Parts: sequence; structure tokens; C-alpha cells
Amino acid sequence: MELAEHLNFFPWTQPTVNNCNSVFIGGTVPTLIDPGHSQLYGHVEVGLSGDHCDPPQLVVLTHCHPDHMEAAEQLQKNGAKLAMHPDEIAYMEGEGRKLASAMGMRFPELTFDILLEEGVLELGGETLEVIHTPGHSPGHVCLYWPRHKALIAGDLVFLQGVGRVDFPGGSGELLKESIKRVSQLDIELLLPGHGPLIKGKENVDKNFQLIEQMYFGMI
Ligand SMILES: [Zn+2]
Repeated sequence: MELAEHLNFFPWTQPTVNNCNSVFIGGTVPTLIDPGHSQLYGHVEVGLSGDHCDPPQLVVLTHCHPDHMEAAEQLQKNGAKLAMHPDEIAYMEGEGRKLASAMGMRFPELTFDILLEEGVLELGGETLEVIHTPGHSPGHVCLYWPRHKALIAGDLVFLQGVGRVDFPGGSGELLKESIKRVSQLDIELLLPGHGPLIKGKENVDKNFQLIEQMYFGMI
């Protein structure tokens, strides 16, 4: 679905299967954020063509969990470049790979073209900000797009929820710090990695308050 100019959102709606929400940024560098599981990528492809989006030239991963990044392997084979935070690449190659094999999963063999450091990310004519938000995983990032006051939040925060911190590499303290940081931003549109989006600054701020009250004592 098209949310704003050059901003498309493909929410995962099937409750029985786990996959993430995907976000597309149009313009001269068509970019897909978190393409999801390989076997479920068809739903994103249908969404992209339904919204007349160009084929992604860049895939940005908020973090390395397979439900967010597995389909990046095929997109890279199709010629897309890949971007992830250097701490997350190191985590994936170390602890993450061990964890995945212990769980009978496999991390795809990926080569990263862009090390996604905190700071400005220029995508053709669009300017976004990369925010390093550890907690759910060590090199997790959120993307903030000032033009639309949109936060692409990955697994940092959800509607009435927060990302799990009980995986190896997770940290409740860091998650809280990261949430406090992004809650200072002027956000009209919060696009989480799972569940419904949150529209309107008032609702976004209320959600941050609720998260602080409900979760900060527990994590
Ligand atoms: Zn995750």
C-alpha cells in the first residue's frame, strides 16, 4: 500500500505464519527494507507490482533475523546491493550463525555492499537518517525519514509492544536507551517490523508512553 510519495508499506497480515512488514522507498534508488522470509517473499513482490514500484536496487536490513532478511539472498542474486550495520554483520557471522544452526535454521551467505553506519543515508533525491538502536540485536537500526516524519522501526517497538531481548546479543538496558532516543523524534508515522502501523504524532507518543509504563520495569 502507498502511504505517501515514494513510501510504500507491505504489512504481514497472516497471523498463523511469522513474517515481517516490508517497506519500500521509491525514487532514483528504489530501496526495500526488510524483505522477509524467502518462501514468503511472493507477497512483497505482488505488493510491489500492484503499487507499480520499481525493482529494488538496494536492500536495507534493520537486523539479521531470518524473518526480516532471508529473501535478501535472492534479491542480491537479482543484482540488488545490500546494506546492514557493521555490528550486525559481525554478530551474524559469529553468535548469530551459531544460534541459527542450533535452531535448525540457516543464514544465507550474503555479501554486504554498504556498511550502514549511524548518520545520513542519501538515496538518490531522498535523505534518511540511520539510527543505531541496539537492544533486540547488537547492530539493529531504525531509519527516520524527515520528509514524511516516518520511523521505520524494525523490531525496536511495535503497537503496544517491544522487540524481544532474550535472544543472544539482546539487551534490555540497550533496548530501553534506544527506545528513549527514538521517542524524541518528531514522528507522524511509525512503521514497525511486525503488527499494525501507528499514524499521527499523538498516537505515536501515547504508544511510547504506554511502552515505558508497561515494559520498562520488566526488561
Ligand atoms: Zn528480530
